[in-house]
Amino acid sequence: MARPQRICLFGATGSIGDSTLDVIASHPEKFEVYAMSAFSQVSKLIELSLVHRPEVLILPSQEAKQQLTSLWPSDRALPELRIGAEALVETAMDPEVDTVVCAIVGTAGLASAYAAAKAGKRILLANKEALVASGELFMRAVRQSGAELLPIDSEHNAIFQCLPNPVAHSEIKQIILTASGGPFRDTEVGLLDGVTPAQACKHPNWSMGRKISVDSATMLNKGLEVIEAKWLFDLPLEQIKVLVHPESTVHSMVHYCDGSILAQLGNSDMRIPISHALAYPKRLLNQAPEFDLSQFSQLNFKLPDLQRYPCLDLAYQASEAGQESTIVLNSSNEIAVDAFLNNKIKFTDIPKLIASMLEKSWHQMIDSIEAVHAFDEEVRIKSAEQLQQFI
Ligand code: NAD
Ligand code: MG
Repeated sequence: MARPQRICLFGATGSIGDSTLDVIASHPEKFEVYAMSAFSQVSKLIELSLVHRPEVLILPSQEAKQQLTSLWPSDRALPELRIGAEALVETAMDPEVDTVVCAIVGTAGLASAYAAAKAGKRILLANKEALVASGELFMRAVRQSGAELLPIDSEHNAIFQCLPNPVAHSEIKQIILTASGGPFRDTEVGLLDGVTPAQACKHPNWSMGRKISVDSATMLNKGLEVIEAKWLFDLPLEQIKVLVHPESTVHSMVHYCDGSILAQLGNSDMRIPISHALAYPKRLLNQAPEFDLSQFSQLNFKLPDLQRYPCLDLAYQASEAGQESTIVLNSSNEIAVDAFLNNKIKFTDIPKLIASMLEKSWHQMIDSIEAVHAFDEEVRIKSAEQLQQFI
């Protein structure tokens, strides 16, 4: 029998981390957690480590290391501790690792995902920001190294499941990403000024981290997903459509030239796409609740209202303009969302800040991952300055 797949899980303490560990725990004969990373929740990382027994833990700092060692139970062997962003990169390339699950949130996940791509690993990609900020470089690294890239973002996983391999481009009319519309899909547009972070994080169908929950409320998340789809499936923007589908039952669709539309349906549970990608090309049992289509008397679809979701429009514009603009979109959004979550700006200031950053003239050569990072940093600094006008 083949030995278990050795998994490196970046972002183990997050929402995707939880779902991934839940699937892995049900199949100890198939998967083994080799490494896990966390950024802030040291106690949670200890709890997870005692259950999943990784050989390596990656922590952000010496302080986190001290905290972990002081809390670690004396009767259990301490895993190897690696420190800092370089340790993420080093572990992504570790010869002991078969599969890297990229579930760090934001641009912080870029360097380790790129390292996994360069090292030719099997990559389960949740961190869509990596493709938004460095799609061309990332996909080139995947092609050159022969890495296997499997999307676990539910929409992209759905499309992946509906596409034949290899992809026959000329046969695809368009792909359709579905969007729940977020918690404010029925809120009067005039009232969006006053919505709170707690309301924005209360997603109607999915339970997710705070940043992606706000992105879902603005639909910037769908914009990032359009860009993610463009790179993953090598399709022009005109062939990537978005439909609001409040039930979140159809996770996305492929519309073929002969009029057939293939869709993937299921519960809104990330264990389903994660199971699919972990087991691909096979299938795995998981603990997601049973799906019963007879409970749905109707499934609704409608075009998104761009007055309500200006961030979606901004994402299409940025993608049209190119890599530099998608970095500006992503980095300025991260600054804006953080400020909104900390009650510094209004919900409706998020698209305003992004738009004002996209309007600036930037002249960057984005020809390396270092250049992406340097530019990301520059945009963050400028966005934080620009933010002052909204405070
Ligand atoms: P989360 O906030 O729940 O977890 C984020 C993880 O990243 C945590 O483990 C945290 O410790 C780690 N982290 C945060 N900042 C870091 C930094 N600077 N350096 C290193 N690690 C850091 O987020 P999530 O909802 O699990 O989302 C993770 C990624 O998956 C995001 O890119 C998101 O867009 C994507 N995604 C999430 C879902 C979902 O259902 N949650 C669905 C599709 C895609
Ligand atoms: Mg998604």
